[in-house]
Amino acid sequence: MQTTEPINPCYRCGKERKIVKKWEEKTQGAKISCTMAVCPDPECQKKVDAQNARNLEKQLLHMKPHGKQPPNKQIVLGKKKN
Ligand SMILES: [Zn+2]
Repeated sequence: MQTTEPINPCYRCGKERKIVKKWEEKTQGAKISCTMAVCPDPECQKKVDAQNARNLEKQLLHMKPHGKQPPNKQIVLGKKKN
C-alpha cells in the first residue's frame, strides 16, 4: 500500500503543491526555513494567488502600526518605495 500523503496540499484542490523555492531566514538568532510552493494546476494557483493577495490586504488593514517599530526590521522590510 502506497500512501503519498500530501505534505503541503493546495487548500483549494488538495493536490500536493510543488516546491519552487527554498530558503533560510535568520530572525534574532533563530533560523527559519521557508518554502514557496505552488499548486500544480496553474488555473487553481491563479485563484490561490488572488485569494492570498486579498488576505494579505486584510491583514495589513488589521495590523495598523502602533507607533514604535523595530528600526532593524524597518530597514529590511522597507525597500525603497517607488
Ligand atoms: Zn490547487
